[in-house]
Amino acid sequence: MRNALALMLGVVVMASAIAGGWYLVGALRGDIAVPQFVAAQQAPPSANPPAKLAAKDGAKDDVEVTGALGPKPAAAPGPAPALAPVSAPVAEKACANPDALGVSRVVEIDTTGGPGFGFQHFKQFDFLTDKEVVLTFDDGPWPGNTPAVLKALDDECTKALFFSIGKHATYHPEILKQVLAAGHTVGAHTWSHVNLNGKKMTEQMDKDEIEKGFSAVKWALGTEPAPFFRFPELQHNPAMVTYLGNRNVGMFSCDIDSHDYKHDSTPEKVVSTVMNELGKQGKGIILMHDFQKRTAEALPTLLKQLKAGGY
Ligand SMILES: [Zn+2]
Repeated sequence: MRNALALMLGVVVMASAIAGGWYLVGALRGDIAVPQFVAAQQAPPSANPPAKLAAKDGAKDDVEVTGALGPKPAAAPGPAPALAPVSAPVAEKACANPDALGVSRVVEIDTTGGPGFGFQHFKQFDFLTDKEVVLTFDDGPWPGNTPAVLKALDDECTKALFFSIGKHATYHPEILKQVLAAGHTVGAHTWSHVNLNGKKMTEQMDKDEIEKGFSAVKWALGTEPAPFFRFPELQHNPAMVTYLGNRNVGMFSCDIDSHDYKHDSTPEKVVSTVMNELGKQGKGIILMHDFQKRTAEALPTLLKQLKAGGY
């Protein structure tokens, strides 16, 4: 266990903000938390059911997202990024909201060997303590919705993790730059959101999806993204898990799925789904989509409820 902890803390690679942890909220409310070394706890023997490999993003999300991808010519991304260790520029800005959710602490993750997080698929590491949540947003950047998510986060002086689709990043690089400029962490989510477990996908096609995704996000940001990756539809292709591991890219599944991609979802359902699951689990990495209008609409209420719930 100590080896695992040392490994996790050996190299500072990227920061992941945790919103509203209970024990530091009072002291840090409204401020940007000072990064601190926090050990990723090796997970205890799991009492949870085995990891589900079923699509959690859902096929509908894929269709919807794919449908949004026009033939618009994308700027050709460059060669594969080296994914050198970088730190996100964190804006030092006073928080105007005295009751903001805030950031309780910043976890810096060594992605050497490609650790995985989120108990839906990865059970080795757990860096969260009770009442801590990580807000994650997939499939952006997208006009209207992503800026609305940014505003809601900013109003609560809190930070999140964004997994951008490469094509979307080339459509709207200015929006993705705003995400980074606001102090959030930006990782990648493939080039075109294909299921990397799809029958027609070859290993080379999977690798191209991953590399073009990272390259596009890097091109849009004008700097290296975080070496963080999320599989489309949470379809964890085993060969690509190995590939990303060799690539020293951290992989993020989730603990709590907001199901905000579902066509019958509403802002109210997004809030209730997340809060109900948190009530059971007590903490977790929350999967949402800044691509979705209902999520952008739900977020101000959700963040207030997280605060009220002591998260
Ligand atoms: Zn997605």
